[in-house]
Amino acid sequence: MKKIYDINNLPSPCWLLDENKLRKNMEILNRVKHESGAKILLALKGYALWKSFDIIRPTLDGCCASGLHEAKLAFEEFGKEVHTYSPAFKDSDIEEISRISHHLVFNTPNQFHKFAKIAIEINPSISLGLRVNPEYSESPTEMYNPCGTYSRLGTTKANFDESILERCEGLHFHALCEQDSSALEGVLKNFEDKFGKFIPKLKWINFGGGHHITRVDYDVNKLIKLIQNFKAKYNDIEIYLEPGEAVGWQTGALYATVLDIVHNGMDIAILDTSAEAHMPDTILMPYRSDVRDSGIAGEKQYTYRLGGNTCLAGDIMGDYSFDVPLKIGDKVIFEDQMHYTMVKATTFNGIPLPSIAIQRADGSIDIVKEFGYEEFKNRLS
Ligand SMILES: *Cc1c(COP(=O)(O)O)cnc(C)c1O
Repeated sequence: MKKIYDINNLPSPCWLLDENKLRKNMEILNRVKHESGAKILLALKGYALWKSFDIIRPTLDGCCASGLHEAKLAFEEFGKEVHTYSPAFKDSDIEEISRISHHLVFNTPNQFHKFAKIAIEINPSISLGLRVNPEYSESPTEMYNPCGTYSRLGTTKANFDESILERCEGLHFHALCEQDSSALEGVLKNFEDKFGKFIPKLKWINFGGGHHITRVDYDVNKLIKLIQNFKAKYNDIEIYLEPGEAVGWQTGALYATVLDIVHNGMDIAILDTSAEAHMPDTILMPYRSDVRDSGIAGEKQYTYRLGGNTCLAGDIMGDYSFDVPLKIGDKVIFEDQMHYTMVKATTFNGIPLPSIAIQRADGSIDIVKEFGYEEFKNRLS
């Protein structure tokens, strides 16, 4: 690890987490925990910068993992509770997962029956649950809608098998994506309509992720009320939330550098990062990242298309305008790039992964990871 004191000496490209901003998010989540009585887990799928776990661990109750590798990371680097859910577990993974998990959540009664006995044998204190599909969602896009048509995620009411209830201690749903507590209210109503009769026999309900709790206009009070009311109605049953995005929301940026500028009908800047390899949701969602000190095309005097350093024609972040012309060597700073970026990044086209750095409360910067050729070579053979 290297420490630097001047942000101009950051390697490029580089993800830079702002520790102070992560602490602010923890304050909000801490308030939700204490006023609602819910437990909150970090969803590693969205945010797994494990060298920042020291900042998160005092507030959150553990992690939710989507399989063996995330469960191991949770166990090794976070500690506290490990909750593991997978759309389908494999025979070869289930023993190790059961050993290190506190909660094990199955996607179907079929998987529940297949693995419940062995999980309990290996870890008698493990708590088993089932993910259900409330078949209701206000998700803005089908790609991120676990309750959409033909969804494989979670058991529908029609497929529910009451014989699991002998060993099942909790139900899990995940139906939100970057949504407010009003969307949770709708999901909860449908969840209760379909599965409410089982709740009195259970120990916990997991409300999943997608709660955009740390966004400035999120209605935190409504979330707290919904949880309080739910707990009051069901004999103080344990509630879990498992946000990923809300943990890393607005906590840092991706710093990139202009390598070249070309003209073909418009000005195009080629950067040393990539939408496809480093910020895939800009293409998949799709969404437009904010770039520091920029406007939409034409808003400021100098407009550029920002493109990545791969040979994919569509490796484009978007069109942005600036007050001054971009020059080779200039920094371009993509805001809010801590969640769903480093967990998804690839070495496509052999381009290096961005370095990872953490800006400490005193302003100093720890370069916690730099990637090179080996990372590219080692994932191929
Ligand atoms: C993706 C996911 C989460 C986290 O979702 P965010 O939108 O990042 O909050 C939590 N639980 C499950 C089951 C998920 O699939």
